[in-house]
Amino acid sequence: VRFVDSHLHIEGNDVASLFAFPPDNGNLLVVCGTDRATSEAALRLAGTYPELVEAFVGVHPSEGPTIQDLIWVEKALERAAGAGEIGLDPKYSPTGPGSAQRTAFLAQLESAQALKKPVQVHSRNAERECLEVLGGFTLKAVLMHWFQDEVTLQEVLGEGYFLSFGPSLLYSKKLQRMAAKCDPSQVLCESDSPVAYAPLGGVHGSFLVPSVVFKLAEVWKKRFEDARETIVENSRRYLGFLEKG
Ligand SMILES: [Zn+2]
Repeated sequence: VRFVDSHLHIEGNDVASLFAFPPDNGNLLVVCGTDRATSEAALRLAGTYPELVEAFVGVHPSEGPTIQDLIWVEKALERAAGAGEIGLDPKYSPTGPGSAQRTAFLAQLESAQALKKPVQVHSRNAERECLEVLGGFTLKAVLMHWFQDEVTLQEVLGEGYFLSFGPSLLYSKKLQRMAAKCDPSQVLCESDSPVAYAPLGGVHGSFLVPSVVFKLAEVWKKRFEDARETIVENSRRYLGFLEKG
C-alpha cells in the first residue's frame, strides 16, 4: 500500500473521485457512511473494488436515525471493516445523556465492541464528552477523525487512540502545532472528501493525501518516505490488517 485515505465519503454515484487516486498504485480508501443509504453505497463499493476500498458503516451525528436504522447498522457491521462515521456534535442537536444523538452513538459503539471492529469518531466541539463515552468501552481501535482540539490532545494520545490529519494541515498553524506534539505512530491521513478546501482553491479528494504526508514529514523532521511508511503501517494496524497478515 502506497497511501491510505482513512476517511472519505462518496455521495451518490460519484465514484469518479475514487480514481483521482490511482488504484493500481496500491492506494487504499476508507469510505465511511453517514446514514443507511451511504453506508450501503460504501459496502457496494468495497464489493466492486475490493483492493481499493474498505467500507465503514454508521450514522453521523447530523442524522436522526430511527431504531430500524440502528438495527440495520448493527447487522451491516458484520460485513464492514468498521463503524463510522459516528460521534457527537452539538451543532446538530443536544448530545447529553438521554439525547437521541447520545443514544445512537452508544448503540453503535456497543455493536463495534461486540464485533471487535474499529470505529471512526466525529467529536467536533464535543471532544471531552466523546472521550468520556469512549472510556466506557473496550474497543478494537479508535480513530478521532479530523481531530482539532488542543486541550484534550494529550488525553487522546494517552488513550492510545489514532487521530487523523487532512488537507487543512497544509495551512493551519494550530493543526501543525498539534501534529508536532503527536507520536507519529498514532497518526493517520484523510481527505474527508467531498469536503472542499477553500484555502487550497476549493479542491477536494484523496489525491491531497500525499501532500498531507509531505507536511507531516516536514513537521516531524522526517524523510518523506519514512513518514509515508509510518502512516501506512499505522493505517494497517488501525484496520486490523497486520493481524490478518
Ligand atoms: Zn467525514
